[in-house]
Amino acid sequence: MSRIASILLPLPLPEAFDYAEPEGMALELGDQVVAPLGPRLLVGVVTGLRDGAGHNRALRPVAERRDSSSLPANTLSFVHWAARYGVDAPGQALAIALRGSRAAPPRPERLIVASGAAPARPTPARARVLAAASQPMSAGALAQAAAVSSGVIRGLIEDGALEVRLATPSARFAPPDPARPGAALNPSQAAAAQALRGMITEGGFQAALLDGVTGSGKTEVYLEAVAAVLAAEPTAQALILLPEIALTQAVIARFEQRFGAAPAEWHSGIAPPLRRQVWEAVAAGECRIVVGARSALFLPFANLRLIVVDEEHDGSYKQEDGFIYQARDLAVARAKIEGAAVVLASATPSLETLWNAETGRYRWLKLSDRHGGAQLPRVSLIDLRETPPEPGRWLSAPLVEAMAETYGRGEQSLLFLNRRGYAPLVLCRACGERMTAPNTDSWLVEHRYTGRLVCHLTGFSMPKPDHCPHCGAKDSLVSIGPGVERVEEEARALFPEARVAVFSSDTIADAEAGRRMIQAMAEGQIDMLVATQVAAKGHNFPNLTLVGVVDADLGLRGGDLRAGERTYQLLAQATGRAGRHERAGRALLQTYAPDHAVMRALQGQDRDAFVAAEMAERESAGLPPFGRLAAVIASGADAVALESYVRALAAAAPNAPGVEVYGPADAPLGLIRGRRRKRFLVRADRSVDLQAFLATWRARARIPSSVRVTIDVDPYSFL
Ligand SMILES: [Zn+2]
Repeated sequence: MSRIASILLPLPLPEAFDYAEPEGMALELGDQVVAPLGPRLLVGVVTGLRDGAGHNRALRPVAERRDSSSLPANTLSFVHWAARYGVDAPGQALAIALRGSRAAPPRPERLIVASGAAPARPTPARARVLAAASQPMSAGALAQAAAVSSGVIRGLIEDGALEVRLATPSARFAPPDPARPGAALNPSQAAAAQALRGMITEGGFQAALLDGVTGSGKTEVYLEAVAAVLAAEPTAQALILLPEIALTQAVIARFEQRFGAAPAEWHSGIAPPLRRQVWEAVAAGECRIVVGARSALFLPFANLRLIVVDEEHDGSYKQEDGFIYQARDLAVARAKIEGAAVVLASATPSLETLWNAETGRYRWLKLSDRHGGAQLPRVSLIDLRETPPEPGRWLSAPLVEAMAETYGRGEQSLLFLNRRGYAPLVLCRACGERMTAPNTDSWLVEHRYTGRLVCHLTGFSMPKPDHCPHCGAKDSLVSIGPGVERVEEEARALFPEARVAVFSSDTIADAEAGRRMIQAMAEGQIDMLVATQVAAKGHNFPNLTLVGVVDADLGLRGGDLRAGERTYQLLAQATGRAGRHERAGRALLQTYAPDHAVMRALQGQDRDAFVAAEMAERESAGLPPFGRLAAVIASGADAVALESYVRALAAAAPNAPGVEVYGPADAPLGLIRGRRRKRFLVRADRSVDLQAFLATWRARARIPSSVRVTIDVDPYSFL
């Protein structure tokens, strides 16, 4: 045997497997290959090659070397780094990295071109076609170029004067032009752009926080960093991560304006053939700017020089199932591996990022002014203890009055409520039974648009029944509490003349419909928009002057580590939608807790005071960013096996200084689809190698086949 190839397969296996390299295959590290595993053939990646001399165990040979692009060494290092960080199998991270490469390829196109042979019967129309057909093109394009019917082209093909070629369409990623003029920057933007350009020129790993109030023009600033990267090296690539990218077409348009070419997009809405083309073009270095969702971080960049994480505080950067990761943290790791610059941008940075900026790990670039002289909205609290809405209503008199004034001036209102559906809870008036999904601890949410009760956790849904399924009483089910659909109903009843719309992931059929609604709002075709957080991010509505937050306390009720921080971020973003242009904006927050630190900070627009208080609290408890957390979740349908496993695991916890293990406890969502769930919480000092601790601990107790164990490093959900 000549050489042994270690092949990492995209599966939850602990390590790469060894195979024999067949004579003449000439494998290289990063190559994609097909290898047998049991009876199956799988695509994997070569992660090691060594001399096979003296190896006496029979190895199965690599079946085939694929002609897809290889994974660059840095991408492979990143895959391993991400897996170790997440205490997960490297194959799980590899599966994300290979997703584009394994997407269905585009169908070949039928192109027509002149064969060089003269037609048997020349006519003026035929001559025009042959003149136009010097380059391959589609039959339709050729007929149009020569102003003939498709019959003329068919005739020439039959004659042999034209020939048909099948070609795989290549996505054309036009080269961006960094020399085009950028937007005019105000002094604070110009200073930040200059600092970023300096970072790029200096080269190597660098991290910066671009910290600017909503509407301060962060995008224009980081576009200058992208321009600097493109200008520095002809092969340099930039990656921009965005939350809710399918809806943020305005940002894509700004890239196009700035560089004269559209960036490649990477998100779940991209069709598989294009996905595959983007993947290949990124690996080949032909695609220089990618704007994408969190998984774009796993693309096989040939020469990545800059990563921008826009809205870095956004919760959607955390991938919660399958391979669990926080894309913002991994972006910094990837930049380190690539020796590239990373820019984290936000109006409401996460405490982790602020702490890194405060301690000097990240450069801290601040934008103080709103772009174009617009003012931040005036924020006031509505104390619901003093002015409660009428029973069965959710909008208080002061908010309704403000909506009436705004509507009277021909301006727009946004009512923000981060709760989908009509009512979050349906219960029986006769017996008190709460409607839940089968074998699951989650309430069913009523949706009036579809007339169904839906479980947002498992996706289970059923028509709303006439009779209580528990006691059989007729018409006894009542809807408790508001969702966006119910607030929309109330707004319509209060303002029957107004154009009222609702925007949540349920009421929008697809990304295209979402973009249309954002467009309609931006163009002033909607007077009042009732929306969940999908509308709170990044959009610019010039005529929006009132933001009403229906339930400002909602996010505080979960009571987890980040409840205050998340509420502050979400509401600051939502209220920041108002008055981004000439007209002054105001925001009204309905709350039962006007003295809560979050509400006071929002009202006073005093982020610093809020952050200082929150930091002090976290520091005294040793919580992130001052300590580290991880959750270990065990679940299983067999309650006895699960119980005995978590007991064994608890007893096996290594005794390590600076680490505390809490649990096992029933998870707040103790039952999902018939599987019981138990949780441990681990807190560790920053000096502890938390990943090593978790890996050691997990290995000490045998996991029964009926039990699934998930490790969530730096958890965001405590359910
Ligand atoms: Zn009942």
